[in-house]
Amino acid sequence: MEFRNISILGSTGSIGTQTLDVVSQSKNIEIDFLTSNTNIELLEIQCSIYSPKGVVISDYSSFLEFKSKTNFKGIILYGDEGLEFVTSYKSTNLLVSSLVGFAGVIPTLNALNNKIDVALANKETLVAAGELITTLAKENQTNIFPIDSEHSAIQQCLIGENIDEVEKIILTASGGPFLNTTLSEFDAITIEDALNHPNWSMGSKITIDSATLMNKGLEVIEAYWLFGLSENQIDVIIHPQSIIHSMVQFNDSSVKAQLGLPDMKVPIAYALNFPNHKSYNFERMNLVEIGNLSFFKPDYNKFPNLQLAFDAISQGGTSCCILNAVNEVTVQSFLNGSISFKSISEINSKMLSEIKSYNNPSIHDIIEADKNARIITNEYIKSNYGIL
Ligand code: MG
Repeated sequence: MEFRNISILGSTGSIGTQTLDVVSQSKNIEIDFLTSNTNIELLEIQCSIYSPKGVVISDYSSFLEFKSKTNFKGIILYGDEGLEFVTSYKSTNLLVSSLVGFAGVIPTLNALNNKIDVALANKETLVAAGELITTLAKENQTNIFPIDSEHSAIQQCLIGENIDEVEKIILTASGGPFLNTTLSEFDAITIEDALNHPNWSMGSKITIDSATLMNKGLEVIEAYWLFGLSENQIDVIIHPQSIIHSMVQFNDSSVKAQLGLPDMKVPIAYALNFPNHKSYNFERMNLVEIGNLSFFKPDYNKFPNLQLAFDAISQGGTSCCILNAVNEVTVQSFLNGSISFKSISEINSKMLSEIKSYNNPSIHDIIEADKNARIITNEYIKSNYGIL
């Protein structure tokens, strides 16, 4: 049996813990490194169960505390240097990149630079730096395995197919908790309402993004880079049951879809074992019980964020990076009570049209564009919506 050594960036987060669940059911996967920001209690537990070679802790005081209290005998590293060590570690076959936000970009880039395959759960990597990342992966002949139900579905549908024969891909979206909420009711949406996703259990940032459909917008951008299609070849349809995870339509009108229960462990297992479907005891889908699958057109008036993603792709340069950065700020501002739910997309739209985009960006340009967009958005919110 071929063993795979993996490291998980963000092992205490939602994707990280589910990845470890999959690992515990896998016979052929060993853990090199686990990393966490501040959740050292859970990291300690993970160390005792999975015996990694080492850990990285990004928050300095958590690092000091862990070091002084832990029973873990492996390598204990801190911060960006620690992440650099992990993403260049020789025996590692696969890096699970599941840090939240822009923090995931550089470690993913490092891994690809060091010819380590990446199982990518961090959206921002392809959204902010899609061109750099996909070019680098091609040059170094490294693979990117998406840990996202939609992109995993498309990757599965494309196995054995010729990408030139693809007419379009159809990303499905659950529609989030406000699919049936009217626009006039949007003013009354609370943080609790928005955090209550009908199908998927996820971290808070991505749950809000699902409620505004920005998550689907970011997935459109990811698909654009992952599969090398034009933005006109990417469709989005609402499918509230989240059973069809996405589809590919070919030149002869034939459509392939990938189906399954909404469970992130399935795309995680596929990414860890690509291109194999190893045996796991995940719950099986019963279509008779599910009964009906329904589909709707997305409402771009209610969810302007989705259109913004297509706009950002058309604008090119650093536009997608800007949209992503602005959206991280607006979602955070919504979560801490500074702005309303509706303001998220209103501010995203205003910032995307006002902040200047630069063409052919280097990684330094992307880091600058990201920083700059955050500063401008924070200042805008501060002066128009009170103090953060
Ligand atoms: Mg998804």
